[in-house]
Amino acid sequence: MVGSEKAIDWVGNSRDDMTRFLCDLVKIKAVTPDGGGKGEYERALFMKKTLEEIGLKVTRYDFPDSRVPEGVRVSLTTLLEGEDKSRTFWLAAHLDTVPEGSRELWATDPYVPIVKDGKVFGRGTEDNGQGVCSSLFAIKAIKVLGIKPKMNLGVAFISDEEFGSKYGVIPLLEKGVFKAPDIALVPDYGSPDGSLIETAEKSILWLKITTKGKQVHGSTPEQGLNARRVAMKLALEMDTMLHSKYPAKDSLFNPAASTFEPTKSEANVENVNTVPGLDVQFFDCRILPQYLLDEVMSQIESVRAKLQKETGATITVEAIQREQNANPTPTDSPIVQKLRNALKELRGLDGQTMGIGGGTVGAYFRRRGIHTAVWSTLDDVAHQPNEYCKIENLVNDAKVFVHMATS
Ligand SMILES: [Zn+2]
Repeated sequence: MVGSEKAIDWVGNSRDDMTRFLCDLVKIKAVTPDGGGKGEYERALFMKKTLEEIGLKVTRYDFPDSRVPEGVRVSLTTLLEGEDKSRTFWLAAHLDTVPEGSRELWATDPYVPIVKDGKVFGRGTEDNGQGVCSSLFAIKAIKVLGIKPKMNLGVAFISDEEFGSKYGVIPLLEKGVFKAPDIALVPDYGSPDGSLIETAEKSILWLKITTKGKQVHGSTPEQGLNARRVAMKLALEMDTMLHSKYPAKDSLFNPAASTFEPTKSEANVENVNTVPGLDVQFFDCRILPQYLLDEVMSQIESVRAKLQKETGATITVEAIQREQNANPTPTDSPIVQKLRNALKELRGLDGQTMGIGGGTVGAYFRRRGIHTAVWSTLDDVAHQPNEYCKIENLVNDAKVFVHMATS
């Protein structure tokens, strides 16, 4: 039996160890401070100890965050040298979780893992405990059996993924921990059969639009300036302009076109007979990577300036979330090829590349020229009550990682 097959067998025999490990992980609360938690510090120390017990050398990165008791957010990396030492294949999972949400929606305590019907239940089991556990056991198999990976194999356990990545992947990339021509797999999105390979994300643009007019009695609108009417005009003109200026479609994405949605509208006056002097509304735009957000913003600025001039209202447009995404990872990139080969050989599956509306750390890697596939096998119960991870997926995804690293 060749090394690759041995390691895949080893993972298959580690089902109970993997289940136990995932349970131990879930017991260590790691709720992001943005969700009212204390962060992932304790969990990071547990992971460091676990990696060192396997005999792996760990590098620890501390990024100061005054909101957590220890004052730092900790990320870890470990590396096994490969036949090709010039580049690294990274498995990058995150340690933090979102809060449990409404307790009454949970059948059991979200921080007391329950093993039932081939699943482990608890907050953070699927997101991203599964990815952490599968990555750990993949590198463990390769280390324990003394196999040399094809290229360097790196595993990164990253903090602060759930809210902004400011204390996680962003400073790690700035430090040059990951750099092209490295390739990365982020096990944080997927489909129930594992056939979907996310290789692209749209850019995200969230806008807050504030319109100030003059509030007066409903019977004498001519004495005021109705902010709501101006805001409606603006929203309609923006909506029409954006759809006509940015009509491109890319079948990699679902939906294929950019989306520009007027969403939230803040409450204004409390009674019907008052003309509102203030209106606050929002747009959620998911834009194909080929369009530059700077350009989109300048088009929006033209509409804003025109409406302001025409109406006399004061209008501001603020981007409250803005992520310009890099071009998609090419479908012939080694990261996609390795994953496709593994899926074909281990599961008889044809992997399908696709783009999504944005929101994973894959975008940060791609912006630095690191070809990245976001992939795992999951039912997509992340952030939900009664979140679970199928033990089968835990084991089988680790086999895919081993295959990718060793062949
Ligand atoms: Zn996640």
